[in-house]
Amino acid sequence: MRLAAARTGIVCGIIFLLCGTVVRGQENAPIKLEVDLRDAVKRVYHANMEFPVKPGKLTLVYPKWIPGEHSPTGAIVDATGLHFRANGKEIAWRRDDVDLFAFHCEVPAGVTSLEVTLDYLLPVESGTAGVPSTSARLAILPWNLVVLYPDGANSDDVKFAPSIRVPEGWKFATALQMSAGSGAKEGAVQFETVSLTALVDSPVLTGAFFKTYDLAPGQKIAHRLNLAADSSAATALTNAELQHMRQLIAEMDTLFNGAKHYRHYDFLLALSDHLQPNGLEHHESSDNRAPERMWLDPDAFETLADLLPHEYFHSWNGKYRRPAGLATRNYQEPMKGDLLWVYEGLTQYYGTMLAARSGLWTAQELRETLAATAAYLNDRPGRTWRDLEDTAISAQILYSARSGGSSWRRSADYYDESTLIWLEADTIIRRESKGQKSLDDFCKKFHGADASIIKVAPYTLDDVVATMNAVAPYDWNKFFEERIHSHGPGAPLGGLANSGWKLTFNETMNDHQRADEESEHAIDVSFSLGFGAHASGGDDANSVIDVIPGSPAANAGIAPGMHLVAVNGRRWSPDILRAAIRAAKNSTEPIELLLENDDYFRVFSLDYHGGERYPHLTATGGADVLSEIAKRHAPAVEK
Ligand SMILES: [Zn+2]
Repeated sequence: MRLAAARTGIVCGIIFLLCGTVVRGQENAPIKLEVDLRDAVKRVYHANMEFPVKPGKLTLVYPKWIPGEHSPTGAIVDATGLHFRANGKEIAWRRDDVDLFAFHCEVPAGVTSLEVTLDYLLPVESGTAGVPSTSARLAILPWNLVVLYPDGANSDDVKFAPSIRVPEGWKFATALQMSAGSGAKEGAVQFETVSLTALVDSPVLTGAFFKTYDLAPGQKIAHRLNLAADSSAATALTNAELQHMRQLIAEMDTLFNGAKHYRHYDFLLALSDHLQPNGLEHHESSDNRAPERMWLDPDAFETLADLLPHEYFHSWNGKYRRPAGLATRNYQEPMKGDLLWVYEGLTQYYGTMLAARSGLWTAQELRETLAATAAYLNDRPGRTWRDLEDTAISAQILYSARSGGSSWRRSADYYDESTLIWLEADTIIRRESKGQKSLDDFCKKFHGADASIIKVAPYTLDDVVATMNAVAPYDWNKFFEERIHSHGPGAPLGGLANSGWKLTFNETMNDHQRADEESEHAIDVSFSLGFGAHASGGDDANSVIDVIPGSPAANAGIAPGMHLVAVNGRRWSPDILRAAIRAAKNSTEPIELLLENDDYFRVFSLDYHGGERYPHLTATGGADVLSEIAKRHAPAVEK
């Protein structure tokens, strides 16, 4: 879909004089970019760009494939107010008929500078076109929302001189460094001139309630946690929480033998219920979004404890080392996600283990999380038609897939299922090397070279296998091939068995699931009746989220999207539903559920008498390798 022709002087050849071009290769003439965030609370960002140009045809493009999102998620629909001007006069532009992210124009003779203005309208709710990045008290600026750049250019070669204006009294943080001696001129903050790659890699977090914590006091390389929240109270960490975050920095230092691929590292964490919880990795920072009460509500924290470790690990795995198919030369070139089970999967594994190593999770919380993960993956009939690799190849469509039907469709399973696969790989290295080596040694070799250099080192599956073999010889090619192409039955649970644990079920609620249910206002009876439902929340209230094919609920005829009304003749609530499951255990009567399906009501009889079932890990009596992996590895940071 993208216009392929790179408009360089060479390509244009003999029609060079007619062929408009942005003057590149002139390091002292970057594209000037001013972004005004002062209307952030009205959900508009204003951008003004000045391109050094030559007369002739010119095509500018809006970023489409966004790094870390692995998808063509560029929010073109909300790029508005577009004007091209030269010497104060309007220049006509025309959108490409096929590639809607491209804008063509003709630069008149004598013109050396093209002014482009653009407004980006921020959505209130997540939908098909972008995600919210503002609340009434904070804003996040991913620069790709507000830039155009020359079609065909390598994003490393395009230089920007960016500046921002933030709302009165708001503070900000970004991995970009302020340009020397610039200060705040007329309220604008000027940053260093950087490549488009570095610009898109360095979002800005700004807000009225802002707090920065030093995560590595006294150390040469700064590590900071920058919080912007919808209230002042939400920015307060306890001493224990701060200590865990500092331990995380120490753990990563130990894991990678001190190798770092950043000048400094800034966690940007926006705490607002008006954002979608998410994290996006960058080399020198990460754009993290979580509920306002993340540090205040233990349930919210329990479900998000691995967010910051995950995004931080990405600085090495994903930003520095990147699958060749994701290491594209600009933001219009399509990405190939087949190795996301390494990019995201290894990161998910280490995000989980580092949350435990740093104390953000207790060993028990880690086990409950792994049990919940293993149980839902083990129950996914979708694997009979779709292997794990296909979930990775399909990343760009699966990220936006709805929850209904997910056990048959499958989701972005290359995150969680790869946690189980990399756990198994870790236990095999430990076994084969008689305890001398572990997956940490793979990380040191694979991610630790070229220490302290910011760059992208692409890799293939062969490179992964070769490094695994260098750590512990084994048939790693076969190991990975079998797991990414498996059609089941069941999830890969070998890592749990090798590490001294097995997946079991009893009637006691799983702690991680309980925290999930509390923060999501939902109930999950997947392992007994076979479905989950929203307990409250707007239009979704009482709706069935998903039904596992072959489960008692599915066999009775219940489907996603129906609305739960009553249990055994009484208006339903999570407690009433659970009580009915318990009561049916000692009865021969079916559980009767009244559901509404598009204005029609029907009673469904579920002949289920197995009682409540929740997943846990139970020790097998073998060596507890899991606790060995999850224990603190770095020296304890001082309180
Ligand atoms: Zn990730």
